[in-house]
Amino acid sequence: MKLDARTVTSAIGAARRIGLQSGNANVPVDILSVAREVGVARIEARPLHLDGYLGRLSNGQLVIRYNVASGWRRNRFTIAHEIGHLLIARCQGREINAPIGRSWIRNETEELLANRIAAELLMPEHQLSSDLLHAPAGWNTVHAMCRRYDVSISALVTRVLELQSMLAVLLKIDLGCIDPTNWPRFICRTSRETRVHFLHPPRAAVEAVLKNATSRRASTIKIEANSRLHEIALLGRLMDAGGTRQYWALGWTPNNSTP
Ligand SMILES: [Zn+2]
Repeated sequence: MKLDARTVTSAIGAARRIGLQSGNANVPVDILSVAREVGVARIEARPLHLDGYLGRLSNGQLVIRYNVASGWRRNRFTIAHEIGHLLIARCQGREINAPIGRSWIRNETEELLANRIAAELLMPEHQLSSDLLHAPAGWNTVHAMCRRYDVSISALVTRVLELQSMLAVLLKIDLGCIDPTNWPRFICRTSRETRVHFLHPPRAAVEAVLKNATSRRASTIKIEANSRLHEIALLGRLMDAGGTRQYWALGWTPNNSTP
């Protein structure tokens, strides 16, 4: 089903309100109790071929099942993601009848919105923003926040890129894959809802990041966002992305141009 802007705003707003309720103010968020609060009667681990799904039992009760073989942090995100589907359905005035599955391969608009809602539930914007404002940008802070919010590194990094209060840049450099022009493949992601221009081609940043990789020095990237110039120090670490060796260079700075 297509999602209109109103559904997106109201579903994220519903997740935000859940995070502001007194019982859910502590982190790590008790995602099982949030699921019960929104009407999910059963939350069960099962051997599955996908991460999880939301469905209805024959007695009409809502159920979330998640993959028993996955780690707890991933399963917490899966449960939050399925709650996301439930909130989206409610904003659209729909009932959940057929099961809705979650797989990392799917990439439809609703899947992305359910991920965004999951991140909002597990890492409430106001709380994570305030934590990051009081901590130095870098991987030590990422690891500390992963422990604090009980989320995976990739969920935390994706969330930093979503926060309105931060201006963040992530370069994911694929170390196992060289393109025909002899360059490692890379993806560059920047904060959402922010106009970002690179003052130099991102390739120059990739070159600097890889040069500094062994010495573990930061590489500074210059960008223009919201008509202002910013310097962001990128620090890298090796990541295993489903069997592929990647180098992730990440940096952020407070986004002072937000109201
Ligand atoms: Zn899904």
